[in-house]
Parts: sequence; structure tokens; C-alpha cells
Amino acid sequence: MLDTKLSPTMPAAEPPSPTQRYSKHIILTTYPGQSGIDPVPLEWGAVDAKSRGPIVVSRSGNLVKRRNAIGAHGGSYSIYNALAIAAGDLDADFRPDLRNSEPTFNFQWQPAWADKTKIVSMDPFGHDIVNSYREELELGWDIRPTMAITRANMKLAEIGEAVRDGRLKVDGSIVVDSSGEVRVTKVAVEPVWYLPGVAERFGVDEGTLRRALFEHTGGSYPELITRPDLKIFLPPIGGQTVYIFGPPERVSNENVKLALRIHDECNGSDVFQSDICTCRPYLAFGIEEAIKEAQSGGSGVVIYFRKEGRALGEVIKYLVYNARKRGGDTADKYFTRTENIAGVRDMRFQALMPDILHWLGIKKIDRMLSMSNMKHDAIVESGIKILERIPIPDYMIPSDSRVEIDAKINAGYFTTGKQYTMEELAQVKGRGWEKWEDVTH
Ligand SMILES: [Zn+2]
Repeated sequence: MLDTKLSPTMPAAEPPSPTQRYSKHIILTTYPGQSGIDPVPLEWGAVDAKSRGPIVVSRSGNLVKRRNAIGAHGGSYSIYNALAIAAGDLDADFRPDLRNSEPTFNFQWQPAWADKTKIVSMDPFGHDIVNSYREELELGWDIRPTMAITRANMKLAEIGEAVRDGRLKVDGSIVVDSSGEVRVTKVAVEPVWYLPGVAERFGVDEGTLRRALFEHTGGSYPELITRPDLKIFLPPIGGQTVYIFGPPERVSNENVKLALRIHDECNGSDVFQSDICTCRPYLAFGIEEAIKEAQSGGSGVVIYFRKEGRALGEVIKYLVYNARKRGGDTADKYFTRTENIAGVRDMRFQALMPDILHWLGIKKIDRMLSMSNMKHDAIVESGIKILERIPIPDYMIPSDSRVEIDAKINAGYFTTGKQYTMEELAQVKGRGWEKWEDVTH
């Protein structure tokens, strides 16, 4: 029988004593018919921001009754925001001063912005809060941008090499100089979910989606259950960033070519250049090809999604690395190792990914710099054509990452090269830990 008593060394948890920052009365949740509950009207899929209505998610002051969304701003950073308030560094009623923060480029309105089947995981008007809701902001409403558009210069070692090797030329505009400095327009996007639309993408009913999100976040966000009238949820997850090379207005122009890479975060490779996978090399290749396309009159886009380690996170990823290396790291067992530890091989769910492409007004992709069948299928099923798929060139694949890439190719990833059988995959081996004694002693 299960012993439900607390261990003697573990004192029973006492309820926290409320500090003077909060009243003793805690509003745990709200209900649709409750007195004073009057959400700001919001019609997802409306033609413009004004008729759609602002997203109001703040619980500060009287807004708790007027909210029309569940969750909090900032994606995963909403927790740091709460910490800053707890620590007394930030006033709970703080309102941002948004002067001069407006976009550096004015993206043209696209029909998808008003289509509630095309965009369900971001606010299509999230970049233009200051213009759209000026009056409400002046009245002290807490309405915040969920997108930001800026411009920057960036410098990648691989782009410098591409210039030195003559694969890229300095044009003074996109590639600024021979060191490989590049000009880029960037769009950062935080997640804003329209729950009926998200449920539809996953083929589940909205109630099941709400229940799963509530239960498996430790009972967070009870309004997912008690407020079926609130259709918007700002989930505590990472967002995405669009990197545009060349004039941003060309992205939606069907008459010029578009090269595009969708890249999912892999911090160990992307930033620290671990050689166990092909992430950073493929990212660098994507950027190089995007620049090339922009230089020849087209457009180049790289979109970076915060979905570390196939959205399983780095702890799971390293556990899998250990299991791979200790179990004889062969490509035939690559996916099984992940499934053993995570229960699934991948949690990235590309179903929501095409939203940003529709927001940008992309109708076709001439050169898709990705081998992923999941990304390909999600994009094509959402109504965007892919004309050509470009695998990572062989010379860019680090030897220890052959295990990963060959396993992926066997599982259906696109290739113009060799597709291995399971028997052959058993021969594709990664590096072991044999030489590590030199480091640890
Ligand atoms: Zn990686």
C-alpha cells in the first residue's frame, strides 16, 4: 500500500503568509457569469486590429474582470516577470513607455491576417499595438506588443569564410564588407494561441486541449477550464525570430525567388558548435543561401524557432546522448534512444509553424533549405508551394553527426544522396568516449 504520510524529515507545507504587496483575498479563478466579469470584445480573424479588439491578459487592478485572454505576456519569460514583481523590483501596475519602439519596416497587411484558419498561434496585429490601440493605451489599459520588428548587422564566421572562398560577394548593401558583416531585418514573435484553431490543427476538440494544458502544467491556468468564453491563451513557451536578408518587401512578392530555412533551436550546436549534429552547419548554409538569393534579386529568410532539442529540452537531449554513447552509438538505434527516454522522438509539432509564413505573405518557396519531411508537409498542407528542396551539402556534415543525419534520412528526411537500409545504419557509428580519460584525470 502506498504510504501517504509525509516523511518525518519533511515538514508539512504551511500556506505562505501574504505580504503587504497583496491583499489576503486571492482570486483563484473567474467564471463567465460572475458579477463584474465583462471581457473586452475580441473577434479572432477580424479584418483589422481595431475591429478584432486588443488582447488584454493583465490581472492588474480592475483588468482581472475585463481580460479576454488567459496566461501572461512574454512567453517563457512571464515567470521572470512574476519574479521581478515578487522581488519588489517591478511594480505590478507598471505600463511600458513604447515611444520610438515601432517597427523599422512596415509589413503590408496580408489576407491571412484576417483568416482564422491560417494564423492561430501568433497575434497578426501584435507588432502594431501603439497605432491600433492608442486611445486604450492613453486610458491606461495594459496592452502589449507580442511582436517586434528591428534591423541589425550580424557577423558569422561561416559567412566570412564564404566571402573569402568566393561563394558570396560583397555588395555593400546586404553583405557590407569582406569580414562577412551582413545587414538583416528581424521579427521577434511571442506565442499567442487561438485555442479553437490550435485544437483544430492537432485534430483534437478544444475541451481536450484545454484539459491537457491545465492538467500537465501542474494545474496552472484554471481559466482554461472555467472560462470557455476566453478563446486566447498566451502559453509560457519560447517564440520565434525571422531573419530577412535583402529588402523585406520582397518576401511576399511572388515574382521573385525565395530561399527559406526553418530552423529549430539547438543551442549546443548553434552557439557552442558541438559536432554531434548538423544544426549549426545547416543554419550557416541556410543563411549563406538566403543571402545569395537576396543578392540575385530575390529574397532570403531564416526563421529560428525556440524549440530546443526537438522541443524536448536539453536535459532530455543530454540523457539521450549518454544512452547513445554508452549503448554503442549507431544510426539504426538513433530514434529508439530518444523514444526510450522521452516517450516520443519529437515534440516540435510543425502544425503551428506555417503561421509565420502566412503572416509574411509567402505563397511559394523556391528553395527550401531543409530536409525535414514534417516541416515540408506542414507547409505544403497549409497551402504554400515548395518548388525545390535542398539538403545540407555533404562537405558540411561533421563526421560524428553522420549518425543523426543518416538516421533521419532513413526515417524519411529528404535527400538527393544515399538512403541507407537499417542494416547499413547499424554500421554508421558515432565517436565513443574512449579518449575522455585524458580530460578527466
Ligand atoms: Zn543539433
